[in-house]
Amino acid sequence: MLPHPIPPLLQHLTPKQLETYYWQARNHDGCFGTVALLQHFLDLFPMSIRLRVRVVEKNKPHEYQILALQRKIIEFHLMDQKSLTLAAVLPDNKTYVSGSDSPIIHAVIGFPASNGGSMAVLDLASLQFGDVGRGFKGRGIFVLETVEDYLSRLNQYATSNTFERAKWSDRMTDAPESDWLREVARRVKGRWDKRETVHWCGHCGAPPPHDRGLMMCKTCKRAYYCDAAHQLAAWPFHKHFCDAGTTSSESTAT
Ligand SMILES: [Zn+2]
Ligand SMILES: [Zn+2]
Repeated sequence: MLPHPIPPLLQHLTPKQLETYYWQARNHDGCFGTVALLQHFLDLFPMSIRLRVRVVEKNKPHEYQILALQRKIIEFHLMDQKSLTLAAVLPDNKTYVSGSDSPIIHAVIGFPASNGGSMAVLDLASLQFGDVGRGFKGRGIFVLETVEDYLSRLNQYATSNTFERAKWSDRMTDAPESDWLREVARRVKGRWDKRETVHWCGHCGAPPPHDRGLMMCKTCKRAYYCDAAHQLAAWPFHKHFCDAGTTSSESTAT
């Protein structure tokens, strides 16, 4: 995660700026990698596994379940991106630029709602677009929102897009760096299997620091955070689901 302690050269940046720059560089051209990672992760579960999807729709919580295999990979083009990312990577002395090509291809994951509701879109590489790619209310480090909200977001990424004519598919076969991503997926599954005893931050995903535990949300006692800043960052989304731990659907969800 973010370097700790923060190197002196970077100490003039706010924590939010640091977070954006950290993920902006790492999400560079990363959309297919994130789509593949989720695929490898879900492949570690039985075919019948169900996903519980939570989004905030028109300022109200919306929750539904679908079979994991009903998810869709959605590929489309972005034309004339509104920002350009330049990442200088030391000590390799390599410079990466994204955003200078037009069009670029982008990939996200869609979770169609079985009840006729709005589809949820998950863009795990959204921070490659800088601050406009931040999640709910400009706080999160990835995007999970309704397709309507995502379409209006795309206007901030780029001047135009082909989302309405996107290619939809069930699986991807030629994922980049598959062996490495499979290993990452196995490690994520290891954390998932221990989720009742070893928690992770509901904002950034970090595990507990070595010297202390994470902060628990005092209301629902089901969400954990690195610190008060990360709890605050997650709150605009979490507040809609904060008491959900007491409902019966929680215990049956996977
Ligand atoms: Zn955190
Ligand atoms: Zn809570």
